[in-house]
Amino acid sequence: MDSLWDFPDFDAHELVHFVTDRASGLRAVIAVHSTHLGPGAGGTRFWHYAEPGQAIADVLRLSRGMSYKNAMAGLPLGGGKAVILADERRTKTPEMLAAFARGVDGLGGRYVTAEDVGVNVDDMVAISRVTRYVAGLPVPDGSVGGDPGPHTSYGVYLGVKAAVKQGLGKDSLSGLHIAIQGAGSVASGLARRAAADGARISIADIDSAKAKALARDVGGEVVETDAIMTLPADVFSPNALGAILTEASIAALQAPIVAGGANNQLATAADGDRIQARGITYAPDYVINAGGIINVSTEYLKDGDQSEVRRRIEAIPGRLREIWAESEATGRNAAAVADAMAQRLIGRG
Ligand code: NAD
Repeated sequence: MDSLWDFPDFDAHELVHFVTDRASGLRAVIAVHSTHLGPGAGGTRFWHYAEPGQAIADVLRLSRGMSYKNAMAGLPLGGGKAVILADERRTKTPEMLAAFARGVDGLGGRYVTAEDVGVNVDDMVAISRVTRYVAGLPVPDGSVGGDPGPHTSYGVYLGVKAAVKQGLGKDSLSGLHIAIQGAGSVASGLARRAAADGARISIADIDSAKAKALARDVGGEVVETDAIMTLPADVFSPNALGAILTEASIAALQAPIVAGGANNQLATAADGDRIQARGITYAPDYVINAGGIINVSTEYLKDGDQSEVRRRIEAIPGRLREIWAESEATGRNAAAVADAMAQRLIGRG
């Protein structure tokens, strides 16, 4: 096995912390990439990995991603992430969560956790009984907190509008055709707002009942999952899976704009160049989808109310415009420009 320093995703992470609890069977890894701007914040993923090395690679990659995302959202937070290595049946026990929470607590606030894949609000409530370094907790109506999805969705909608202005010179989504991959939390908020602006919506989801229900709601049409990316739409908005922008899929895209909330859309860094070479306006994923972390950050740091959250989310289009302007000025692709900007913000440029 390689040493930690040899992992391709190791990027001078400040901290990699292994949490093991024999009694509950817990095996977890917490990684803090950077605390340059504040405590390392990012969710906990509960996932079955075929090899422990895959869990380490994942937590290294994801925690660096959180450093970039939090920096580009203008938050006083660094980047961190945790993974809990689940067994094949994904057995999750209260004892395991308590042991994990003790591991988080032991870092004294250098890492702040929240929900990610496989971890829900109830798990966060359980973790919060042991440590205060946790966000994404239920809150009373009117307070900042709760489900980040609608906030992500609002930022994605604003980002799509900014991309339409950038790529097509249009101020409104009215009359435009938007192809949306996914019909979940982020996609549905985007579809509703865009339809209210007069856009025509096409939707694909592997859960066809979900796609149909959303299409009915917004007066849109359902499209086969393998057809959504190649529709001759004005905007392709990925809001389901990562790694969907590959050499083959980029070559087949017909929309002049790609802007959506899915994480890690580019399969490889080279795909950033490919999308640029096709003349497509691309909104880097972790910039456009920061609305949820903005809400989580404001909840955790208690440094604003709901109108402040809105104001912070409304800064996303400006950040995208900065990226596109630098991309035009330097000839570098938008994703590479975003990475370079984020690295400068965390003192690694
Ligand atoms: P969700 O689970 O509510 O929705 C995802 C949807 O994608 C599901 O309906 C699922 O059936 C569908 N899907 C899965 N595979 C598909 C495929 N091959 N083709 C079409 N549809 C498929 O999730 P969400 O919260 O809406 O998140 C969507 C994306 O946005 C994810 O990539 C997530 O990581 C990212 N994201 C979400 C947030 C947030 O606040 N929820 C924040 C940042 C990023």
